Amino acid sequence: MLRTLDHLGKAAYTLGTLHCLSARLLPLVQRISRMDYWKMLPLALCAGLCAAGCVTSSMLTETPMSPTCREVPTIEECQAEAGFIEDPCLKNCVLKQCSGAKVVCNEHVQQKCQFLNQQKGSKIGGYVERKEQDCLIPKDEIGWCQIPMSRQCRTKAMVHELAHSCGWKHGEGHGIPGNNGRLQCI
Ligand SMILES: [Zn+2]
Repeated sequence: MLRTLDHLGKAAYTLGTLHCLSARLLPLVQRISRMDYWKMLPLALCAGLCAAGCVTSSMLTETPMSPTCREVPTIEECQAEAGFIEDPCLKNCVLKQCSGAKVVCNEHVQQKCQFLNQQKGSKIGGYVERKEQDCLIPKDEIGWCQIPMSRQCRTKAMVHELAHSCGWKHGEGHGIPGNNGRLQCI
């Protein structure tokens, strides 16, 4: 019974609101229908141009791979570099990782970067924990060391790390930058 009353109340409220709205909207619709459409043409053209401008600029906007980490390439730069990978499964995996992998650069990661730098004797761009990842089931996290590098170099470093996240190992080739573990760029 209470439910029925509730439903009835809601129905009455909706009908009332609709009635009020139509009473207000009707004169407005009538006024618009009497307007001179030729006068509206420049306005419509302007609105069209604005919309086209908005769409184009949003298409040109580049998205960094991480909103918080520094020295990361954009998703678009990463995908362009991944386009050079020769193995289809690895290429597909890295392309997906460019927009899907989580780039982590917190304090724990920075400490590990320092440790690895000392161990290796040179600065590393990032690292990926080795587990049983392959090009079909990649590792979803990349440790990123945020080393200041040129745009081209950080893109290559990122694709190198993403390849590791897809199971790739040094010396396997396939067009991954830094095949021997060292990147020839600064
Ligand atoms: Zn490596």
